[in-house]
Formats: sequence, structure tokens, C-alpha cells
Amino acid sequence: DIYGQERINSRGLNIQVETDLAFLLSGLDQWGGQSWTAGPIIGGTRHIDGERVEVRSPYDNSRLVGSVVFASERHAEEALAVARNGFGPWNARPVQERARCLEAYADLLEKNRAELIAICCREAGKNLQDGIDEVREAVDFCRYYAIQGQARFGDAIAMPGPTGESNELYMEGRGVFLCISPWNFPLAIFTGQIMAALVSGNSVIAKPAEQTSLVAGRAVELMLEAGFPPDVIQLLPGDGAKLGGKLTPDPRIAGVAFTGSTQVARLLNRTLAQREGAIVPLIAETGGQNAMIVDSSALPEQVVRDVLHSAFASAGQRCSALRVLYLQEDVAERVESMLAGAMRELSVGNPEKYSTDIGPVIDAEARKGLQEHLNELEQSARFIARSPLPPSCSVGHFVAPSAYGISRMDDLKSEHFGPVLHVIRYKAELLDAVIEEINGAGYGLTLGIHSRSESTAAWIEQRAKVGNCYINRDQIGAVVGVQPFGGLGLSGTGPKAGGPHYLQRFATERTRTINT
Ligand code: GLU
Repeated sequence: DIYGQERINSRGLNIQVETDLAFLLSGLDQWGGQSWTAGPIIGGTRHIDGERVEVRSPYDNSRLVGSVVFASERHAEEALAVARNGFGPWNARPVQERARCLEAYADLLEKNRAELIAICCREAGKNLQDGIDEVREAVDFCRYYAIQGQARFGDAIAMPGPTGESNELYMEGRGVFLCISPWNFPLAIFTGQIMAALVSGNSVIAKPAEQTSLVAGRAVELMLEAGFPPDVIQLLPGDGAKLGGKLTPDPRIAGVAFTGSTQVARLLNRTLAQREGAIVPLIAETGGQNAMIVDSSALPEQVVRDVLHSAFASAGQRCSALRVLYLQEDVAERVESMLAGAMRELSVGNPEKYSTDIGPVIDAEARKGLQEHLNELEQSARFIARSPLPPSCSVGHFVAPSAYGISRMDDLKSEHFGPVLHVIRYKAELLDAVIEEINGAGYGLTLGIHSRSESTAAWIEQRAKVGNCYINRDQIGAVVGVQPFGGLGLSGTGPKAGGPHYLQRFATERTRTINT
């Protein structure tokens, strides 16, 4: 059953449960003094000699997390050659064998989760809950794509044979897939892209975000331990422009899976289009200018809870995060003042502490960009609220969750990837114009709707062109196999990650006709 009705996602850890919390905290403790090392992994060999770049924690810049050797063009060349050789035999293996490797890797992710959560907290600034969710989603991607793969790459599908011939349709891998993943889900999306490509029969060159090479390095070590052949998974940490510039134009790359900015997706698309030779797919999952529409029938308590989570969880560093909150004017005052109260209660700080709600942003550059945007808002927009930033935050890249009133979506020239919420008040009779404004921005990732009128919610849902619409709840945290995730327009190409059609794009279809 390709829709996986019977499947259950992994349980993860529940930090409200004392034993789970104790396990987690002692795990973090155990990995407390650890320094991790990563570098290119090619044909199973780790290249950790050479010039190392230090990794410092975004929540405490004096804390050294480890070091990374960035890949050179020579490493990229070598990875291409190895991956090209690895493809044929891997693609010829029965899909059940490939799926078993995914399952074994998922088991290892679970077994090593304390360490992986520790790296996610220290290298990426994830708080405990986000760290837990990171491992859990990675595990779910493995198990989900293992099932999907076997449903699709197993036996050929018998087609009708009206003239007496036998016709069969089957799918197989395309070749070497380049997987380029983001720092905001450094284990989950990294794993999701690679597992989808591998179970479909491709070999992979993985280029993780520069900021999160350590967790990627550890993940690839676990993939090798799980039994993936060394020539099907190559890791190239390093500079995106340099490595992308070398790999994307190379005719040995048979497809690209990318999660990141719209701007880089466009560049990849152009580069692939200009290549000689085969026309290959780009699967891009990019940003959003995500809105939530709250009408006057909505329940303010629920709205505030869902807005807080959607806009500020993970320090707003999710492509699904809420950026523009549309409040119908009758409820605006009340919702804004309740929101301001709730924001003052948010605890920003060390993400490894149980009591922390919001951790740091990823690096100094991100912080600077957000701070500049906040300075502009301070001049041009209506201040609503800001969460307190304790003095201890000065040691890291922290941005205080903030909310400002603006007059229209067009005031925002780009996506601001952090804990900044923009609020627009609208008149009930102008709901049409609101939807036009949202669609007019050209993105189409998530939309939240809060209304107790089913017909209003349905009316909005039908008109607003987004990939994931959430009604009367928060709008982040899509669950693998339950809420397939991905956007339209400037937000991505589809197909949706964690959905039943994702693997299709990693594959090529073949028809076999035999005159019997
Ligand atoms: N899947 C994540 C969510 O639903 C967002 C993924 C991303 O930020 O790239 O929140």
C-alpha cells in the first residue's frame, strides 16, 4: 500500500517523561567534551588531513564543537568517478536489499541518537525538542522510503497486451544524484534526500550545508556502517559555490535534489539547462513568505499558541515558518495583546537547557541580516512585541523573537529567515485582496487558517495557492508519510518530501515489450 496507512512513525523521546529526559540529559553529558571531525568521505575513505576549519557553536562562540576539512575540486572529481562506478551494481541489486540498508541505517540513527542530538544542539543550535525531532524525522524518512521503494522498484507492473505481446513497466535509478541539503534540518533533510536517491537505485554525492558538516559526516559514517556500499555514498563538505560550480555542470550528474534558497535553486536550474547532453531533473524545495489568516470567528487562545509555535519555534528557521500574520481587524487588538504577553514569556538562550524555548540563529551573518531587518522595521513599522534577551545571550548568535505591524506583504522585499513576525490587519470585506496579496508574492509553501467557519476556511484554502495548508493549528512540522511536504511556484518544484510520489522523480521509467 503506497499510501502507508498501516505504517507508524518512530516514537522518539518525550521530554515531558522523566526517564526520557534523564536519558537525553545524560547522553548530552556523556558527549559533553567531545570534539567531532569531518571531511570528505570518498569510496569509504575519510579525508581528514589538510586544512581544517573550526566549528564553533552558534549558541556559545567560545565553544569549539569540532573541525572540518572542506572538499577540494580534486575530491569532487574523485567522488564523481567513484559514484559513477558505484551506480551500475547498486541499481542492479534487488530493491529489498537496498531497503534493508535503509532500515539498518535507521536502526543505527536510533541507537546513536544521544550523540546525534548532541551534535545537532551544538553545531546547529537546535534545542532539545528540535534535536529529538531531527533524529526522529530522519528515521521516519528511512523507513517510509524503504517501504515506498519496495512498492515501486520491485516487480514490474504488467500492462495490458491487446495484441498478444507482453508489456511491462518498471522503474530504476538514473545515475549519480547530487544531494544538496540545508543547515536547518541538518540530519533529517540530509538523510531524506539521500535515502530517496539510494533506495531508487542511484548513487549519491552529498553536499551538506557548510554550517552543519559535522552531523553530516557522522551520518555518512553510520550509512557505511549500515552496509551501504562505499562507492554509492560520497560526502563532500565545503563551499557551495565552488563545489556546486564543479559538480552541477558535469554530465555525470544525472539529477539534483536541493533544499535551500530560491535564488540558489534558480542558479542550479540555469546551470543544468545550459549543460550539453541529457536533460536531467532538479527537485527543489525552497523558501516561502508564509501567511496565516485569522478571521473574527477564530479562538484567540488557540491562535496565539499556534502563532508562537509557527513563527518562533526553531528560531523561525524553517522554510514552513509563519512570516506574515493577517488578523481581521475585529480581533486584531485582542490577539496582538495576548501575543505580546506570550512573547514576553518565551525563554531565549542555551538550547541544551530543558527550559529554553528558542535557541540561536545559525551564524553571525544570519544574525546580522535579521538585525538589519529589525532596525528597518523599527523605523518604518509599528512595534508590537519582543521577547527578552538575557545577557547570557551575548556569547552567541541570538535574535530576540519580535513582532511588528506592517501595512502590506509588498513591504517585505525578501524572506527573512528567523524569529521575526509581521502582522497585517485586514477588513473582513477585503479577504479577497488578502488572498491576492499572498498569491501575488509568488511563493506557495505553507498557509495557516484560523476560522471556526468551515466554509470560510474551505473558501480560502481553495483560492490560496500553497503546497501545505493547515487549518486551526500551527503550520510547521509536517510529518513524514502523513503530511507530504513541499511548495509551489517560488517555493519549489515538488514532488513532496515524505509523500507517496517523491521517489518517482529520482527514477527513470522503462517499458519492456516482448513479442511472445
Ligand atoms: N518540513 C519542515 C516543516 O514542516 C520544514 C522543512 C524546511 O524548513 O526545509 O516544518
